[in-house]
Amino acid sequence: MKQIVLMYHDVYCKDVKESGFQAIGAIPYKITKNAFEEQVKAISQYCEAKLLPKSSVVFTFDDGGISFSTVIPEVLEKYGFKGLFYISTQYIGTERFLTEEHIRELAANGHEIGAHSHSHPAYDEAASMNADQLRNEWKESIGIMNRILGTNIKSVSLPNGYSTKVVLDYLEEQGIERIYISTPTTRISHHGSAQLIGRYAIQMGTSLQQVMAVINSPMTRMKYQLKSEILQIAKKLLGSSYSTIKRKIISKK
Ligand SMILES: [Zn+2]
Repeated sequence: MKQIVLMYHDVYCKDVKESGFQAIGAIPYKITKNAFEEQVKAISQYCEAKLLPKSSVVFTFDDGGISFSTVIPEVLEKYGFKGLFYISTQYIGTERFLTEEHIRELAANGHEIGAHSHSHPAYDEAASMNADQLRNEWKESIGIMNRILGTNIKSVSLPNGYSTKVVLDYLEEQGIERIYISTPTTRISHHGSAQLIGRYAIQMGTSLQQVMAVINSPMTRMKYQLKSEILQIAKKLLGSSYSTIKRKIISKK
């Protein structure tokens, strides 16, 4: 069965500053509880109308903000879904992030928990790390999650979509079976025994109509995939000038 995987971050009730990272770049990924519930409800109704199991749409959440305990599980559970939650372990127990107890509670309620690196390096930061530093990011993160949960985690999501052979080799060695990436696709690729699974990002500006088009329109999904592939090519061709150009394009919107 083909699964459509959605990528969320924080969900907030009143204030965008309630949960998770507060850097400028993180804000557009946070959505309101009302918008989130509207989406979960519509997806639930869609699955019921099409006689699809609830597992055909996968809700993933990145970073480890406190909303993973205070807001998100309640909404998912109300409509019969379980979530996949990816935690950047350096922030556990700090302000606006989950505590170890919250993480165990999520797992006990049937949600899946995985690692999202230790320090959550920015893309350029990760790109400047050597092989040992990259492996350490994941060694720390997976080690901490395994200790908190008392079991070996089976999945991770990659912060800022950053991956290299060093990272993928290490994750596979650690018994990670599913690696969630940020490429919008339902096509699953493999790195040894590990699956690389794409995700569709839901952001502050994503309308309910756009979310439902991702769920029910193969044409829409193909458009997102194509756009992302073109951006990847641009990144490769332009190298470091890519970020500068991207900033210029975004600031003109
Ligand atoms: Zn992240």
